[in-house]
Amino acid sequence: MYDLGDIVEMRKPHACQANRWEIIRMGMDIKIKCTKCGHIVMLPRREFNKKIKKILEKKGE
Ligand SMILES: [Zn+2]
Repeated sequence: MYDLGDIVEMRKPHACQANRWEIIRMGMDIKIKCTKCGHIVMLPRREFNKKIKKILEKKGE
């Protein structure tokens, strides 16, 4: 399960071609930040669950 601060890969890469996102907020909505260009996207949790591909790094590991 993903958590705040984890780095995740999404089913589609960002427009900047990177596909590494940091989870910066968790709640009803989940906010992720592209680790390459800093772009922030907010998604309802249900949509995020559909769009996440895998966790690349757990926070603190
Ligand atoms: Zn980006």
